[in-house]
Amino acid sequence: MSAKIERQLVVFDFDWSLADQDSDRWIFEVLAPELRRKMKTLKAEVQWTDLVAQLLRELHAKGATREDIEGALRKMPFHPAMVRGVTNLKSRSEPQTTFFCLSNANIVFITTILKDKGLENLFEEIVTNAAEWDASGLLKLRRRIDPSGPQHQCKVGCSPNMCKGEELEAFLDRHQHAFDRVIYVGDGSNDFCPVLRLRSQDMVLCRRHRGLEKSISGFKDEGRLKCEVRYWAGAWEVEEIFGQL
Ligand SMILES: [Mg+2]
Ligand SMILES: [Zn+2]
Repeated sequence: MSAKIERQLVVFDFDWSLADQDSDRWIFEVLAPELRRKMKTLKAEVQWTDLVAQLLRELHAKGATREDIEGALRKMPFHPAMVRGVTNLKSRSEPQTTFFCLSNANIVFITTILKDKGLENLFEEIVTNAAEWDASGLLKLRRRIDPSGPQHQCKVGCSPNMCKGEELEAFLDRHQHAFDRVIYVGDGSNDFCPVLRLRSQDMVLCRRHRGLEKSISGFKDEGRLKCEVRYWAGAWEVEEIFGQL
């Protein structure tokens, strides 16, 4: 790191990155394991966000309430070291850090959990799928990209509903590319596209043993990654790296 870093951007994937679980799967594991099984069965044939939306309707039909779902989200694993790590980094003035959340979960799951952890003001922006409670307590979930309209143009292999690389570029455009460094924290194969776009002064904090690690190791030989790669398994290691930034 030669040039002085004054402003940096930390981009967080949510499930298995900021949080220590996958919110879409967790609520069914807690509230209706038979729907969790159905999710596994249908995963290959139904688009993921559509599948979660369908299973939320089935969960509602089985009598699960908004309070049940919020309760399940609040007890989802979330490491105290992650709460500490992001809180301490945000409170430091040198460098100044902006946080951006980029997730294929949904806005209700994410904000419910953030609020419970006292992190409701952490993110400058959250880009994810739209969701809202209706009067009957059904959580209505919609894909970020309307399936009947134009789709994203990515060729890297992003899922139909979201190209995190394009979303990161759009965020950087909205902020005039004002960051001396970007640090991307992710775990999944859909975090690979934005990581490919990082520069030599940027850094990816890649969680071990998941899709992103496989994608990165598969590309190493081709030298396509410009950014520095740091690996972590537990949130305490992210806290440790944040403390060194
Ligand atoms: Mg993830
Ligand atoms: Zn992409």
